[in-house]
Amino acid sequence: MSRRIQGIGMTSRRTRERMISRLREQGIYNSKVLAAMADTPRHIFVDEALESRAYEDTALPIGHNQTISQPYIVAKMTELLLEKGPLHKVLEIGTGCGYQTAILAKLVDQLYSVERIAPLMKKARDTLWELNIKTVGFKHSDGGWGWPEHAPYDGILAAAAPAEIPEALLEQMAIGGVMVIPVGLEGMQELHRITRTEHGFEDEVIERVSFVPFLSGVSQ
Ligand code: SAH
Repeated sequence: MSRRIQGIGMTSRRTRERMISRLREQGIYNSKVLAAMADTPRHIFVDEALESRAYEDTALPIGHNQTISQPYIVAKMTELLLEKGPLHKVLEIGTGCGYQTAILAKLVDQLYSVERIAPLMKKARDTLWELNIKTVGFKHSDGGWGWPEHAPYDGILAAAAPAEIPEALLEQMAIGGVMVIPVGLEGMQELHRITRTEHGFEDEVIERVSFVPFLSGVSQ
């Protein structure tokens, strides 16, 4: 393992374990989610200048006006996604730095991740490679289209908030599938969990959240 991955001081395994205790206090209970987060060095997903803050419960800048989601929200969304049973095929919208991607990759059979900003996607792919996570499918595209070639998905997780859930994402859910997605305009977003049943869609509102906006089109 490289020295950077291993970490020291504020980036050490002990610091990460303190983050896990905090997540437990915040109500995260899924032991598989907590174990995946205990195992994944979060500091290597951010710029070296920010490494020492990687385990604080805050969002941090990752360039291109985007942020790495705070640990609590990564844990919460993953837990909500997995709550109804193990997932085979999952689509993530908004790879960003790839931290959420790494956690999901450890917990589901097959993961596909879509990002609209090319350099973020490339960097995330390199970081995951460094961590020996090599099975994720990446696509540089507008996640509003989903990724129809691999549909239907048992799980969809979006890390950016649309004003309304894109129709294509609903269409690409399997029956029994679950989607965790923030919805709403800046300052008034809520996290939703949508479950597709044989008769339609169930919609649970989980809590208020703050995400970057879901934008259309791609950026090189
Ligand atoms: N979980 C990521 C979150 C990154 S922020 C992390 O922890 O790093 C959200 C990401 O969603 C950004 O990288 C942004 O570029 C991306 N995004 C926003 N709208 C998108 C869209 N329509 N399709 C694909 N990605 C999108």
